[in-house]
Amino acid sequence: MATKSEKIALNKIAELGCILCSEVLGIEGSAAELHHCRRYGAIRATSEILPLCPEHHRGNSGLHGLGVKRFEREYKISCEKLLERVSQKLGKDDK
Ligand SMILES: [Zn+2]
Ligand SMILES: [Zn+2]
Repeated sequence: MATKSEKIALNKIAELGCILCSEVLGIEGSAAELHHCRRYGAIRATSEILPLCPEHHRGNSGLHGLGVKRFEREYKISCEKLLERVSQKLGKDDK
């Protein structure tokens, strides 16, 4: 299970809101679920988690609905770029 500091980190990621809504659509603060990227195998690190709203996560226009390749084409942004933006935002919004 997640350790306490991991849980705090996960909460912070969720609090950012959907990263696709904010980066691609310009909508801030959409309630987000956490998506674990498994690009590098079964790594379980907070740096591999994307906050996505239910639609962009599990919906027809979302990461699971489209699949990673189509998702990246559709929104013209890679998961890696989104992960990068998440970590930038986490650093900046440290209160
Ligand atoms: Zn979204
Ligand atoms: Zn997911």
